[in-house]
Amino acid sequence: MRAAVLAERGKAGLTVTDFAEPVPAAGEAVMKVHAASINHVDLYMRDSGAGITHELPLILGVDGAGEIVEAPAGSPLKPGDPVVLYPMASCGRCRACQAGDQANCGTFSISGETRHGSFAELIAMPEHCFVPKPDNLSWEAAATLPVAYLTAWRMLFGRDPLKSAETVLIVGIGGGVAAACLQMAKMVGAQTIVTSSSDEKLKWANGLGADFGINYNTGKVAKQVIALTGGEGVDMVVDTVGEASWGDSLRSLRRSGRLVTCGATTGGHPSADIQRLFSKQLSIYGSTTGSLEEFRQLIEATRRGLIQPLIDKQYPLAKLPEGLERMERAEQRGKLVVNVSS
Ligand SMILES: [Zn+2]
Repeated sequence: MRAAVLAERGKAGLTVTDFAEPVPAAGEAVMKVHAASINHVDLYMRDSGAGITHELPLILGVDGAGEIVEAPAGSPLKPGDPVVLYPMASCGRCRACQAGDQANCGTFSISGETRHGSFAELIAMPEHCFVPKPDNLSWEAAATLPVAYLTAWRMLFGRDPLKSAETVLIVGIGGGVAAACLQMAKMVGAQTIVTSSSDEKLKWANGLGADFGINYNTGKVAKQVIALTGGEGVDMVVDTVGEASWGDSLRSLRRSGRLVTCGATTGGHPSADIQRLFSKQLSIYGSTTGSLEEFRQLIEATRRGLIQPLIDKQYPLAKLPEGLERMERAEQRGKLVVNVSS
C-alpha cells in the first residue's frame, strides 16, 4: 500500500512510498483511510520525536476517516461501515480508563506517534478506536475531528467549562485548534477575542464570529484585552503558542481566571510569574486530546450542524510534504487535509 513513511528525522526522511499492509492483532479492526488531516505533532515527529516512544520506520498521521474493511469476530463493526478514527488505543483496564477518561490512560498508544498512523491506505487499530461517522460529514470534514477538534472540545468544555456569559481570549488564531476553539466558543455564545500577527487572519476570524481581533505585532495584547473587557480581563485564555504569548496571556486574565494550554509551539519555559498567580488567584491547566465520551459529544455537535469543520487546503497523499510546509510557515486558516484514497 502507499503510505507516508518516516525512515529518518528531517524533511528528507519522510517519503510517500510502498509499505507492508497492516496485519491486525487480536481485537483490532482495519480501516481503509479516505482522508486524514495534518497536525502540528506530525512536524514534531518528523523533526524530533523526543519523549515519544517509537521506532522508525513509522507511518505518520494521527487522525482520519474511512471505512472498515476488516473487523474482529463478534465486533459490532462490519466491512463498509463509515467511521472516524479515535487515535488513542487505550488499555481499558487502568484507573483512568475505568473512569471513562481514556485521554489519561497510563499505557495508551497513539496512531502516528507510538504506532503506525493514518497517512496510509490502511490502518489497524483496536476496535474501540473506530466511531461511526455521521452521514452529513464528508470524509475530509470528519478527518479533522479526532485531534484538533477533540483537543479544542476538552480545552473549552473539560475541567472548567466555558460559559455563555464569559469572555475567552484565543491566542494565535489560524491554527486548527485555535480556530476550532473559536467555533466552539461561539457555539455556546461566549464573547471572543482573538490574536494573530496577520490582519488577514483577524479579518477571517471576524467572519467566523470573533468579536474582537488584536494584531500582536502592532498592538499590546494584554493592554487591549483589559480595555476591551472594561478593565477586568477575560475569564479564560486558550494558549497553544507557549513562551512567546505566555506573559500577555497571564496579564489578560481577570482575577480567578483560567489559562488552558495544549501546546507550546514557540517554546515551553516561559516565566511563571508566581506573584501574579497567587495574588490574582489564577488557574493554569494543561489539556490534551479527549475521552471517547467527549469525542461522542463532539461528533454529535457536528451531526447537528452546530460546528462545521474548517478546511483550509487539501492535498493528495503524494503532496503531504507541501501541506507540512504550509503548516510550518503558519499560513493555514483551519485544517489541512490529506486525501488518501477518496
Ligand atoms: Zn488505560
